[in-house]
Amino acid sequence: MNKPRADLLIDNAVELITCVSSENDPLGRIQKGAVAVANGRIIATDLRVNLEESIDLTGAEVIDAHGKIVAPGFVDCHTHLVFGRSRVKEFALKMTRSVAEIEAMGLKTGIPASIAMTRETSEDDLFLGALDRMKRMLLYGTTTVESKSGYGIRWADELKMLRVNQRLAQAQPMDVVSTFLGAHDFPPEMDREDPSQRNAYIRELTDKMIPRVAEEDLAEFCDIYCDIGYYTAGESETVLRAGMDHGLAPRIHTDAYANIGGSSLAAALPAISADHLNYTSENEMRLMAESGVVGVVLPALDFAVAHPDPFDARPMLEAGMTLALGTNLNPGNWTESMQLVMQLACRNHGMAPEEAMLAATTGAARAIQRDDQIGCLAGGYQADIQIWDLPSFEDVIYRIGNNAVWIVIKNGKVVVRKNA
Ligand SMILES: [Zn+2]
Repeated sequence: MNKPRADLLIDNAVELITCVSSENDPLGRIQKGAVAVANGRIIATDLRVNLEESIDLTGAEVIDAHGKIVAPGFVDCHTHLVFGRSRVKEFALKMTRSVAEIEAMGLKTGIPASIAMTRETSEDDLFLGALDRMKRMLLYGTTTVESKSGYGIRWADELKMLRVNQRLAQAQPMDVVSTFLGAHDFPPEMDREDPSQRNAYIRELTDKMIPRVAEEDLAEFCDIYCDIGYYTAGESETVLRAGMDHGLAPRIHTDAYANIGGSSLAAALPAISADHLNYTSENEMRLMAESGVVGVVLPALDFAVAHPDPFDARPMLEAGMTLALGTNLNPGNWTESMQLVMQLACRNHGMAPEEAMLAATTGAARAIQRDDQIGCLAGGYQADIQIWDLPSFEDVIYRIGNNAVWIVIKNGKVVVRKNA
């Protein structure tokens, strides 16, 4: 009988975190565990002596993870990583001044500032800026990233952002999952209080942009910002259903600043994910749990804006929801580190370290419909693996602002290796 032949073996880890939950351990940890990889995919995880019985390990490159922790690569399932320029000036002023004072100085703030800067920036420069941020994400252990449009808010600039997503996927090792977010805001040049102008832009989204996004295969998901001052639940349903009619799976930003029915809509569609969830009711949590909507929570945003009502993970988990974490990397909330996001999730939002880890891997994979490919270390899954220079799993949460990464492996290839 021919044994499958491994081309890579990671052996001897203090702990191998598989993220394959079992009754006694949600993280499916294997002490002194090993991973065997062939052709970019995991063959199996177990103790080396057990792997040797069924896998030919002769000739495999061996990485000795002695004293280290082996884990799945992070999945960052919610980012706005393509954007025109930094808003560092606005940020620095905000430390001591109000938004009104800053705007009186002639500076745009918030999403409108990002829209203006993104429209002014060429496709090449958008690409180079995003590529630089992605290099840092990889150094922090992220191996798959979702990237939204939504700073164009008119076709030419939305298209420019989606083309950048396509180029990014080709230019670096991480997988890029593209989301169309033409409904991140209304165009700044229109009056959003005027119903006929609102309807005109929504028709532009449903009748022109969404069909073109689908036709040119520019995105897998259609997303919308359903919140006070943005899109109503009714408008969100119109846009997301148009997306679904064209094969774009629905996601929704909602309940970040008020509850206007976005989570109920998410449960009814059902959406793949509902993101933010600061003002979600327990009933809506139950409905989303029942319809399988993943709750994407964004600790770095709540921290960055000093949110008055940070989301609470406990009732969502108790309602049976699957939770996912994302950096929400954008000019108002700039971090490339899922490790920092997990540290905040535990300290500020009631998540246990194990819950944060699952939300950063398997939960996040579910939020982008990749949970049969990535997010855990199991036979048949992509060999997206990180090795941490840490003595225990919990240290990744414990050491604030640290980057634990020693090695990152994407599709079975070492793409980051720090000098030990
Ligand atoms: Zn967002």
